[in-house]
Amino acid sequence: MPEKNCEEIWNNCLSIIRDNVTIQNFKTWFKPIKAVKLENMVLTVQVPSQFFYEWIENNYITLIKKTLKRELGKDAKLEYNILLETSSGKKPYVTKIPSNEQDKIKNNPVNFPINMNENSTIRNPFIIPGLQKININPQLNESYTFESFVEGECNRLARSAGFAVSQNPGGTSFNPLFIYGGGGLGKTHLANAIGIEVKNNFSDKTVLYVSADKFQTQFVDAIMDNKKNDFVHFYQSIDVLIIDDVQFLCGKEKTQDVFFHIFNHLHQNKKQVILTSDKAPVDIIGMEQRLLSRFKWGLSADLQSPDLETRLAILKKKIKNDGIDIPYEVIEYIGYSITTNVRELEGALISLLAQSSLNKKEITIDLAKNMLDKFVKNTVREVSIDYIQKVVCDYFDIPIETMKSKTRKREIVQCRQLAMFFSKQMTKNSLAMIGKHCGNKDHATVLHACKTVNNLADTDKRFKGYISDIEKKLSI
Ligand code: ADP
Ligand code: MG
Repeated sequence: MPEKNCEEIWNNCLSIIRDNVTIQNFKTWFKPIKAVKLENMVLTVQVPSQFFYEWIENNYITLIKKTLKRELGKDAKLEYNILLETSSGKKPYVTKIPSNEQDKIKNNPVNFPINMNENSTIRNPFIIPGLQKININPQLNESYTFESFVEGECNRLARSAGFAVSQNPGGTSFNPLFIYGGGGLGKTHLANAIGIEVKNNFSDKTVLYVSADKFQTQFVDAIMDNKKNDFVHFYQSIDVLIIDDVQFLCGKEKTQDVFFHIFNHLHQNKKQVILTSDKAPVDIIGMEQRLLSRFKWGLSADLQSPDLETRLAILKKKIKNDGIDIPYEVIEYIGYSITTNVRELEGALISLLAQSSLNKKEITIDLAKNMLDKFVKNTVREVSIDYIQKVVCDYFDIPIETMKSKTRKREIVQCRQLAMFFSKQMTKNSLAMIGKHCGNKDHATVLHACKTVNNLADTDKRFKGYISDIEKKLSI
């Protein structure tokens, strides 16, 4: 067989990968990869840094493996060359790390009432046909553990209920456990963490994670193949069933119907059901009442936007896990600027790391300011009152608590007034909200502060200097 060209193979892989990731991710993570060698079904690719390698392994390895196997056959393997900068910075050398093959979390084989003769092709993609028994791949994401899930005020109830369930699946009153909250707040992570923890505690329990969307597609396939019973039996054989994003079933009556029967069976048999949704059961529209009422049988717990403390803790944890060194002020800057959800927060950090590692630039606050704008698209990033307070207080070297206290000392009042002034200028918060944040003052106080600052800016040169200094620090 003529030796296939490694670049050609890699380019074919890329054309498939391109359709499966966002353009931004494609540019960030795949453009910089170079194919360097193809030998004995092993494709070697060169990546720009250790961090890059780890990111690819953690996030894209399944996709890459799949495409590579399509190109080269099932024995295809991937190896990495990682460019390491030497201290002189001139001659990068190369280290070789084989890509990780193992798949740690497994279910034990279970007996299954499906006709397993050779002609029956089981359409359910979670089933790997065995000799007498079948294996059900739990489909859990191994990096979404409790260990890596940072606890905070915003997720305390959901997290502890989830943990309780994982110690005693099916045996607590949290059945179903219904976790809800907006996008990127950690529903999928927490749901997986419960599944992983169940497997750690009870290795013989069959756990299955499935998105509602996949559940629905499988159901439609099963109907077309006349295998509805197999589908139902399959799901009824699970001990811990995790269905992610159940809101997806809204308006899909047939799927809701079959889910209703599966749910009842599992619940009656003390099997655990874990559901996630972007809305609370009461707010879900287009779902049958009998299902909604069952969702409320157990416990509904919500995930809220992370507060500043939790955001900083999450960033610190990610950085520690990745073994990366970033100045604390940069972490703070990201934590203060991105307030929406954890996914955005992570995205910002990752873009920053990627850029610094690609361009071999040191991570500084300036790089962070530049990058956040370019790379975290879709985020409506607005400076927060918290961040403004921090910048203003740092500028005058006054602790935030003192600024928020009742003291009438002149320089403190001035600092407080500037924080109020910039909050009014740079955020969409109401006067009342700003006042509340700056030591429980009322809206009239904030209005007065804005007027005073404007007056002083016109009359006091030194004060004008303060304003423009702080403005610079706040500008992104
Ligand atoms: P959702 O399913 O609610 O849209 P995800 O579970 O996908 O959100 O979370 C988005 C990202 O944020 C994931 O990478 C996840 O690991 C991370 N994440 C969310 N919450 C936390 C948390 N409390 N601690 C650490 N990482 C978190
Ligand atoms: Mg999710």
